[in-house]
Amino acid sequence: MAQDVNDIVRNGLCIGCGLCQSIAGENKLKMTMTAAGRLRPSLIQPLPAEITTRIYSVCPGVRVEGLESRDNDPDFATDPIWGQSARLSIGYAADPHVRFKASTGGALSALCIYLLESGRVDFILHVAASKAQPMRSERHLSFDRSQVLEGAGSRYGPAAPLVDFCQLLDLERPFAFVGKPCDVAAVRNLAKIDPRVDKYVRYLLSPVCGGASELTLSHNIIARFGLEEAEVGLLRYRGNGNPGPTRIETKDGRTFEASYNEVWGDEAGWQLQARCKICPDAIGEQADIAVSDVWPGGSPQGEDAGFNGFIARTHKGLELLKQAERANAVCLERPMSFRDLDLFQPHQVRKKQAVAARVLGMLLAGQMLPRFRRLRLLRSAWDAGLRHNLRNCLGMFRRSRQGKTREPAA
Ligand SMILES: Cc1cc2nc3c(=O)[nH]c(=O)nc-3n(C[C@H](O)[C@H](O)[C@H](O)COP(=O)(O)OP(=O)(O)OC[C@H]3O[C@@H](n4cnc5c(N)ncnc54)[C@H](O)[C@@H]3O)c2cc1C
Ligand code: SF4
Ligand code: SF4
Repeated sequence: MAQDVNDIVRNGLCIGCGLCQSIAGENKLKMTMTAAGRLRPSLIQPLPAEITTRIYSVCPGVRVEGLESRDNDPDFATDPIWGQSARLSIGYAADPHVRFKASTGGALSALCIYLLESGRVDFILHVAASKAQPMRSERHLSFDRSQVLEGAGSRYGPAAPLVDFCQLLDLERPFAFVGKPCDVAAVRNLAKIDPRVDKYVRYLLSPVCGGASELTLSHNIIARFGLEEAEVGLLRYRGNGNPGPTRIETKDGRTFEASYNEVWGDEAGWQLQARCKICPDAIGEQADIAVSDVWPGGSPQGEDAGFNGFIARTHKGLELLKQAERANAVCLERPMSFRDLDLFQPHQVRKKQAVAARVLGMLLAGQMLPRFRRLRLLRSAWDAGLRHNLRNCLGMFRRSRQGKTREPAA
């Protein structure tokens, strides 16, 4: 049967990265916010078959593959859950302002500023709050420190950083990319068919990711304060401390705050997109450096000065971390172990162990399957035991049969 981009959406596999828009061209396919609060490709005209094939070969909804052998090093530590690591450390941005303003300890922003100021890249591609619609997120280019800091902080709702990725490659300038692990997977997929990716995308950096919420969650947050989107001038999910408050400022000068745990304390209320439930790599296995929170148990017990977990995954990531430490851009305070990561990210351990069974549940329910490779999913499932696998397989089978893992085309 002929491939159709809408099938990726209908089968709940699209995560809204935007790369298909960049490949097809905005006149043929445009990322659109759906009524359910998800960014999805909307076809404006039928796509030629070769464009659809290209999209299927790069789309992280249907294809995620672990690092290629050239990036694997037998001397680096590996773990069934956490994958490869050249160095694991706890640290933070050396600049106290960056550390305070950013999501956690400012690691990603500090690395981006270092890359720009050392001349290693010309710009950073990442995301920031939209200026026109401040509750929403959009792709953001940073050429200097102040632009990097405009993008600092976690944007938990939908974000499509790759909407013009191929057009940025056309510039033939070196840049770094910060994106969720699925966004990084899209870039790695594209690198297999477009040699310009390895030439111009010098570094891939990623936050460890618990999942991307629907925009309706953000609407629910502001509704608690009796607000509507048109009134909102700023919605910051966290930052200005670690984790810092969720803060809303209205265009007419009113401010509202709620603590991180008030908003995010209950994982069941995160309104995650369907694709996140079967995410085979939410821990940045394909990034050069992945960065996490380091809260024991996975939730903050209060405010602190901001500490990141750094996972340097490749030689390039290891070298960048060393240079950034030497230049006093980041402080690496103490080593971290894979078992520390289990403690900091229990939800990531549960998810990695559940993915194979959930994908089997989808298969049994007759749903279209993604292609996941080199991510140790069967080994992780085996370690989780029969009961865990049965529960996840049956749960996904039922959800799929009830249509809960599917969605209409945009
Ligand atoms: C959707 C989401 C889920 C998360 N889930 C977890 C989790 O399960 N465990 C955990 O430890 N931490 C999670 N985090 C937080 C993450 O740990 C911190 O962002 C990370 O520690 C980096 O902190 P920092 O202070 O170095 O970031 P900063 O210096 O503030 O930099 C953050 C960077 O991430 C980019 N960014 C923010 N939001 C997005 C987005 N939606 N898509 C693409 N790029 C984005 C920004 O543009 C910025 O460059 C999540 C973040 C996000 C955005
Ligand atoms: S995951 Fe990305 S490339 Fe795939 S369909 Fe969705 S927006 Fe397009
Ligand atoms: S959980 Fe996975 S699919 Fe969902 S946003 Fe994070 S990296 Fe992407």
